[in-house]
Amino acid sequence: MSYSINPILGSAIFLCFLVVILVVYIINKLQLINILKKSIERLNKTVRELDYQAKLIIKGDMELKLYQEEVEDKLNKLTLLKNLIISSLHILDKENLFSQIDDKTINDLGFKKGLILTMEGEIKLSVGFKPKEVDTLKDFVKYKKNFIQAIPLISAETEAGSELITALQTKDFLIAPIKAREKIYAVFVLANLVMPTDVRRAEKEIFSIICMYLGQCLDNIQLFEEIYNAKDELERKVKERTNELVKSLREIEAISRAKSDFISNVSHELRTPLTSVKGFSSLLVAEKFGKLPEEAKKRLETIDENVDKLVNMVNTLLDIARIESGKTEVKIAPADIAKLIRDTGEFLSPQMQAKSIKLVLDTPETLLVYMDKNLIDQVFINLIGNAVKFTPEGGQIKLSVKTGGNQAVVTIADTGYGIEKENLEKIFQEFFRVDNSINVKAKGTGLGLSLVKRIIEIHKEKIWVESEMGKGSTFCFTLKLAKEKNI
Ligand code: ADP
Repeated sequence: MSYSINPILGSAIFLCFLVVILVVYIINKLQLINILKKSIERLNKTVRELDYQAKLIIKGDMELKLYQEEVEDKLNKLTLLKNLIISSLHILDKENLFSQIDDKTINDLGFKKGLILTMEGEIKLSVGFKPKEVDTLKDFVKYKKNFIQAIPLISAETEAGSELITALQTKDFLIAPIKAREKIYAVFVLANLVMPTDVRRAEKEIFSIICMYLGQCLDNIQLFEEIYNAKDELERKVKERTNELVKSLREIEAISRAKSDFISNVSHELRTPLTSVKGFSSLLVAEKFGKLPEEAKKRLETIDENVDKLVNMVNTLLDIARIESGKTEVKIAPADIAKLIRDTGEFLSPQMQAKSIKLVLDTPETLLVYMDKNLIDQVFINLIGNAVKFTPEGGQIKLSVKTGGNQAVVTIADTGYGIEKENLEKIFQEFFRVDNSINVKAKGTGLGLSLVKRIIEIHKEKIWVESEMGKGSTFCFTLKLAKEKNI
């Protein structure tokens, strides 16, 4: 038995088989297309993201550039400020200060036009403004003083500034006051920016700083002017007073000369009759004209003593007057002070012995100084005489001379009663005698130290005294050392 397949069935089965394969293939391809689609979508997203990032980078780059430009601009403005400070630091007058601001400064500040106007309407700087614009600004300064005082910076955005937009035909302007000691001295106006931008914070800030700095400079200038004027005034007053003093001094000198001449004349006139009175009183006391009753002799002795005192006084007055009027011939030459001290000590030793006063000498063998020997001898007689007079019995007087630098310091020290502190200066005045019980007994005229002081002064030297009550007094005076002996 044989089986045979129907050919038509066979073809149908084959066809079915082909269709199945085709369907499987198509499904497969569709899946592939789907996957590809998704990949393309992802790719698209990535591309969009990349595009966004690129845009961000470009934006950042542009911003950085702008920022860099701004920093550079600020640096330029700071340099401008620094240069202005350096150039105006030592300026001491207003005109010079404003001459530091010119068209370059205005340009560096970022503007084309600039104007500095004082409150009195004086123009200190004008760059680029037309006369009509200047007039408008003058009126603005005149009538809007209160606004300018109150607002540190006026711009187109401020109420006061908005009315200037039409007149100046721009919104790019800044107005600030220049104040000295809180008072507006001038107004600074900037207009028309160089760059086509709006007025930025940087421009406003630097402009404010410059206006403040100019105000500070004006403050300093005013202070300097005040000090300078005060100095001038002071100098004028000092000159005036000096002239007055010189005049007074001349008058005093004239009066003093007249006084000295008067004393000198009177003393001179008194001397002759006094000499005669003294002669007769001495003779009378010595009973050369016959024996006198006891009472009369006593009185005559008093007269004789007083005549002595008077002669002494007249002679000293004459000496003082002569020195003061320059009539005394002064011969200052090198002489041995050590010898002079010893000689005067010896000369006055009888008076010391009478009071049992010990004399101590502390001098070198020789010591040459510049002096008028006769006058310095007079100084010693007066100073040692006083030491003897004001030292009680059994005391000590020490005469010494020491050297220091180009000077000799002569010291006369006693162990006497001493002088009160308040009288130390006064004892050199004419006729001054300390009012105490000692002076009631001690004879004197109060002229000795006055003469001593004048003698030391004509030597252009100094004299002073130190004293302690109950312990003694020390008188010192200086003389210049001499190198060569010329006596
Ligand atoms: P006088 O001795 O004639 O009074 P001076 O001018 O010499 O005048 O002295 C003035 C006064 O200074 C004296 O009266 C005396 O009071 C005081 N004085 C001067 N020298 C001494 C001394 N060594 N010790 C104390 N007092 C003195």
